[in-house]
Amino acid sequence: MTDCLFCKIVNGDIPTELIYEDDDVVAFNDIGPQAPHHFLCIPKRHISTTNDLEAGDAETIGKLTLAASKIAKERGIADDGYRMVVNCNNHGGQTVFHIHMHVLAGRQMTWPPG
Ligand code: 5GP
Ligand code: ZN
Repeated sequence: MTDCLFCKIVNGDIPTELIYEDDDVVAFNDIGPQAPHHFLCIPKRHISTTNDLEAGDAETIGKLTLAASKIAKERGIADDGYRMVVNCNNHGGQTVFHIHMHVLAGRQMTWPPG
């Protein structure tokens, strides 16, 4: 998708330091961190929202979780824990319409979320 911010990061049109990359997934630090650690895992292929997922996307979505888990271990935040968040549409608070998994860590999270 030419007009998608995260596709531009995947394509290199918006230079962004990647903290993880495989065939299907990249991860990078969030530009507006909401916790001491806040990074995003995204599929390279454009999928707008979780409403658009199809059965064939199962492996890609699984890989987002695996990437998040791997990065968390590498960063030493796995034992203390972290929060994975995927926002969908207006009520979910989604602002970038290319699926992304937030990973937040380094402080105590609260529940319920805002
Ligand atoms: P959403 O609100 O859609 O769940 O999350 C979008 C996230 O993308 C926000 O946390 C926002 O800070 C982050 N973001 C928006 N633009 C950029 C950007 O250009 N670079 C990076 N690294 N993160 C971005
Ligand atoms: Zn996109």
